[in-house]
Amino acid sequence: MKTVCVQFSNHFDLIWRRCWDREYVYQGRRYASYRRIEELCLQRNLELAEQGEGAYSVEQALTLRAFLETHPDALPRLQALYDRGLFEVCGAGEAIIDANLCSGETLCRNLASGVRYCRDVLKMPPLLANHGDGFGSSAQFPQVIRQCGLPGINGMSYSLPDNQYWRGLDGSTVLVWWGAPGRSYFFDHCYHEPCRVCHNLAAEGCPACSGTGLDLPQNVYPPFEPVAADAFLEDWAQYTVTSEEMLPPEGFSQHLRYWERENPTVQYRWGTPRLLAHLWKPLAHAVDTAPDGAVGSRVENNPVQTGCLVSRIRVKQTARRLESVYYGWEKAIALTAGARARLDRRRWETLFLELPLAFFHDAVTGTHQDEASRELLDRMTDCMSRVRAEGRRALGRAPAAEVKPSPGTKAIVFMPHAAPLPCRAELPPADWRRAPPLVAVAETGTRHPVILPWHAHSPAMPLATNRLINPVGPDARTRPESVTPRLELQTAEPLAWTSLRLEAARPPHPLPDRRLDNGSLEIRLGEHGVEEVRDLRSGATAAEAAQTLGEILLEEDQGDPWGTRRTPAFATGLGEYTRLLGAARFDGYQEAWYGGRYEPNLRFGREADPKIFALEWYVTVRLIEGLRRLDFGYEIFWKSADRRVRVAFPVQAPTDAGYYSIPAGWLRRDRYEKTENHLWSPNGDWPALHFVAAAPGNGRCGWAVLNGGTPSARIADGTLFISLLRSPGFGHCLERYAQDYPMPTCGMRDGGWHYFECSLMPYGQEADLPALALQAAALNQAAPCLLTTEDADPPPRGLGLRLDAEDVELQAAKPAFAAGPRDAIVLRLVNHAPAARTARLHLPPGAVETVARCNLLEDVEETLEPTGDTVQLTLRPFEIRSLLLRPPSAAGAAPR
Ligand SMILES: [Zn+2]
Ligand SMILES: [Zn+2]
Repeated sequence: MKTVCVQFSNHFDLIWRRCWDREYVYQGRRYASYRRIEELCLQRNLELAEQGEGAYSVEQALTLRAFLETHPDALPRLQALYDRGLFEVCGAGEAIIDANLCSGETLCRNLASGVRYCRDVLKMPPLLANHGDGFGSSAQFPQVIRQCGLPGINGMSYSLPDNQYWRGLDGSTVLVWWGAPGRSYFFDHCYHEPCRVCHNLAAEGCPACSGTGLDLPQNVYPPFEPVAADAFLEDWAQYTVTSEEMLPPEGFSQHLRYWERENPTVQYRWGTPRLLAHLWKPLAHAVDTAPDGAVGSRVENNPVQTGCLVSRIRVKQTARRLESVYYGWEKAIALTAGARARLDRRRWETLFLELPLAFFHDAVTGTHQDEASRELLDRMTDCMSRVRAEGRRALGRAPAAEVKPSPGTKAIVFMPHAAPLPCRAELPPADWRRAPPLVAVAETGTRHPVILPWHAHSPAMPLATNRLINPVGPDARTRPESVTPRLELQTAEPLAWTSLRLEAARPPHPLPDRRLDNGSLEIRLGEHGVEEVRDLRSGATAAEAAQTLGEILLEEDQGDPWGTRRTPAFATGLGEYTRLLGAARFDGYQEAWYGGRYEPNLRFGREADPKIFALEWYVTVRLIEGLRRLDFGYEIFWKSADRRVRVAFPVQAPTDAGYYSIPAGWLRRDRYEKTENHLWSPNGDWPALHFVAAAPGNGRCGWAVLNGGTPSARIADGTLFISLLRSPGFGHCLERYAQDYPMPTCGMRDGGWHYFECSLMPYGQEADLPALALQAAALNQAAPCLLTTEDADPPPRGLGLRLDAEDVELQAAKPAFAAGPRDAIVLRLVNHAPAARTARLHLPPGAVETVARCNLLEDVEETLEPTGDTVQLTLRPFEIRSLLLRPPSAAGAAPR
């Protein structure tokens, strides 16, 4: 007898053509949230399964968390169905996130948190990882999957591993399982529109929609077919009916019984994929001994949907910032003595759950509609302020009063890095028109500059004919009213709090020579842009006769938010329309300013490019004393369709292969051509999380560009390119099958005022790449900062923990999961070297009783024996290693 397991499932997007948790009214109709749609689907599927008319699996933990929040009494029902093989949750983590643009910590924790929730709270441990419809296929994903206790992955989409096993950057291998054979239906013709009778404005009691507010007749199913005779593996097959958001077909058992009568050698039973695990388990057992011939040829499966690397860029910039704020404050809380007891770990974990939503795959693509985009931005902004408030509370500090950065204020900064690297602390927002120039002075007398990314001390752009106001620069009303001042620290004591006093800075004065120089780098300023950067240590120069450094390029980009659809017809450098506006020396740094507008479009009605209404830019070039790095800030205002903006750094790279930062690591990639048409996305960019680096020449210094939230890079003909913006004219897939589903989508063209940052820096040779990776990660990890006007207010006392480890990043320091040991903290180390590295962890006397190696789920694997107060461990190349530290009380032993 052959057996077919039959189940229903949905691919639930959390953000896309509707909001996650907000309804919205558009053109007189109310559109339900995903949360509401998912609730209805779950309810109906549970009822059917309980009636012997269905089996159901859910992908993401966030879907179930939301459902159980609304229906707390449903858990026993779910568990009863799970025990009967009629319900399960996949190992997708909290959400199916994009695996290219999030930090390494989000990649780790999204999966770990979701798997732990399923295993420990729902009591339904997932068996395989799942990344269905996920854009991005990171080379560190196999390691993360294995460290979440899963041997393999199914449900991958787009660019796929090319063999049975996929081996990642660190050598971790996973089984790639495409599921049992059988028959699989995927319906995407129904995206619930509002009820045609009540428009979901008065759904209660509406007979047409049974009070759901949905256009229920959209749930139509075509005739179903039985499993084909040859579609069995070892007499087993799977039958799946999937849609994005449809309610399940009713009375499906009638089909099954009919097919059984037609072919009595095949029985159909309700059951989720878990019942077919015996088909892949032998392959999973062999995962660590897989022969090379069965292992895929690549560590990653990119490029995937590279258009989404810069679409809806504000969402990505804010999501990156949210990560920086959350993990920075988390480190400060975890590594500060006496703070742990005051932290509500469950509340802290709830705040974390905003990150999987921010990096959800359709949040990252930019394909989502405008209301969903606003919801995302509002949620992220709100989450950042709640993280800061929770951080202050955990540290026993008063709620943030309205302390503004001003002379006499004290800034207390936590340095979140284990090595003394240059880093930034964000001060509370200030009015850039009136903010006084400040400098932060340490107790040692060292002065650290306080920088306003945009301010009132630079010249306005000259007005164009018939133009009364500029959209960029200090006279622009389009500029946000406030700016986040940044304290630029050359270094500070690692993993400790440092107290600095804000004082009035020396006033800026003009620099008459066309030159910036800080003793490390020498910058030659041309009329149209930076002409040369000279590294005084190595003697290397970055310069190109035909192009300035950091020049803006305007490129054709015909496509949708997912990707460019055609080889661009043109890419024009805007240097000829860019002019030097001035330069000045500030207290601790120098700046030069360039401005320009797309002059061929200035004559109204005679625009050379009718797809552009406005394109103007204001560029700040900044050189900070003591740093071997040149910062670029790009203020850009545009309104356009089907265009892309890149910036170019001609560094005379000897080859188009280069090094790209990925979550928890970096790797070498070759150039790919703009004719590459995988998933219709020929733009030639790779994702580059924190940096992109050109290969060093023969004995010559390599150059890198560090990005601040715009992770889309390309190396071609000796030049490093960073994409900043796209303006897809059409949503394409958003329109699919949505005959009567109007959506506000013009926000995907990203019109308006924008601000981008990146830095050019020399990095030496290939052996220096791990150090570059650490520096670039540090620049994207803002240091938490407390402002106080009280002179007597002492900084919080750090735990005194030290990590001594070359090329190793302290990626996270966190309270243990709420269900884990009380007061324990977890450290997560990442080895950025392609070779083994030794790490020494120096424990503060009496503060830690036991140290154990653990996996990402924080399950202890091995207790480590300290020598004196030091624990030594060796990390494999690109290994992610977690350590669980228990304080004496939690371990139940006497303090030392
Ligand atoms: Zn999706
Ligand atoms: Zn209705």
